[in-house]
Amino acid sequence: MKFQEQPSDILARLSELRDADAPTHGGRVLSYVYDSGVPELDELAAAAIRMVQPVNGLDPTTFTSVAVMEREVVAFARDMLGGDSSVVGTVTTGGTESCLLAVKTARDNWAGEGTPRLLAPVTVHAAFHKAAHYFGLELDLVPVLSDGIVDADVMIERLGPDVALVVVSAPSYPHAAIDPIAVIAAAAASQGIDCHVDACIGGWVLPFWKDLEPWDFRVEGVTSMSADLHKFGYAPKGISVLLTRGRDRQRAQYFATTRWPGYPVVNSTMLGSKSAGALAAGWALTRALGRDGLAELAASCARSTSFLVDLIEFIEGLRVVGSPVGPLMAIATDESVPEDRRVDPHHWADQVRTHGWMLQLQPGLAQQFGVTLPHTTHLTVTPVTERVMPELASALMTAASEVRGMAPISPADARDSLPDELLESLTEPLDSEAALRVLMEVGLVSKDSEGLPEKMAPFLALITAMPAPVTERLLTELIARTVE
Ligand SMILES: *Cc1c(COP(=O)(O)O)cnc(C)c1O
Repeated sequence: MKFQEQPSDILARLSELRDADAPTHGGRVLSYVYDSGVPELDELAAAAIRMVQPVNGLDPTTFTSVAVMEREVVAFARDMLGGDSSVVGTVTTGGTESCLLAVKTARDNWAGEGTPRLLAPVTVHAAFHKAAHYFGLELDLVPVLSDGIVDADVMIERLGPDVALVVVSAPSYPHAAIDPIAVIAAAAASQGIDCHVDACIGGWVLPFWKDLEPWDFRVEGVTSMSADLHKFGYAPKGISVLLTRGRDRQRAQYFATTRWPGYPVVNSTMLGSKSAGALAAGWALTRALGRDGLAELAASCARSTSFLVDLIEFIEGLRVVGSPVGPLMAIATDESVPEDRRVDPHHWADQVRTHGWMLQLQPGLAQQFGVTLPHTTHLTVTPVTERVMPELASALMTAASEVRGMAPISPADARDSLPDELLESLTEPLDSEAALRVLMEVGLVSKDSEGLPEKMAPFLALITAMPAPVTERLLTELIARTVE
């Protein structure tokens, strides 16, 4: 067959496109990507993906390799997370899908009347907002204290017969806080309410963390858990595990229908036809690493995390929020020092970026009945971090000294910087043209450049300044236009 474009040219073009991406290896991006720092693991994952490339993961009876790999990955995760033989599970395409399915399953098992409620600390991952939205649950968010941890008593007070699921995190993404899982799960169990532990980020690393109270299936009231292999399992994107205590509870996760003129449909997860690539890669990695390999990589993460926590505490004007559990942390301004010695975490993140390192900016949150959570900068530490620590530490310190004393951009200032007509236009529902005009006005979209501007601090301030529905509409437009 004659191709309209030669494979070598196509791949050259792809390589050019990839060069413009943020670097996925080498530890320069401290979120999104999880680099084990072991190239053989990436090679193994690639080879495994290649071998199952044409397989359809839809049907494990036709493609039996899928059943075997899934069974073995689930078994590995179950043993690692303290589950016994009553714990069953499925491999999903990622953390969001695991969380969505946990909520859908709980909703379908819930025997109450009216609208079911999803109860969680305000720090619970946004995937649960999405789940409540998709599956028609009321989202009941409980404020957290300034260290990012929820008060167990407040959570327990809000339990009731309309609660279909309580969610706690191990740890939470925004602050790396581990919720009081044992107390909350026990209280939920005593009222017959299901309790999900979101260990999407912690699931493959906390089993090897020192000195933790039980936080997994060893806690009796825990009825389901999510743990992403495409985070600290170092697998390529597209694989997570959802474990559920009790076969009967888990069966509600499935969708089956024979009421159409095609093949009988049985889906354990949300997709129909699906790739077996990430499953094969994740499966191969768990076999190569085993518990000892995972423990070794976790130990490297732990050393780097503790070094970075100390470093941040040492940098005048910055502080770590709470006491992070796991290889991630949130960094805020240290307000105990005079204003001219403070470091704003967003100016700092922007400055760190000029030195070639990408940190993630997180907005503050005014909780309805609680403390205001400060805006922070997020760092996820991976095994490769240890290798680049001297350069990273020096960039973090230098950047701090470069922005020390620079006042944060207040949300009010960000708002006032917008022209009056523009502010007025934001009170009306925005259509895609109006939303685009706003984005161009504030400089988030420009005709001649891809990606976001260099400085993110002003935009984060703007995000906080505007009502959430407006920001959400604008960000939707931003991403849609980026792809268009
Ligand atoms: C990453 C994450 C998720 C969502 O996972 P995706 O893989 O990004 O879909 C959910 N919960 C927590 C705590 C996470 O860190």
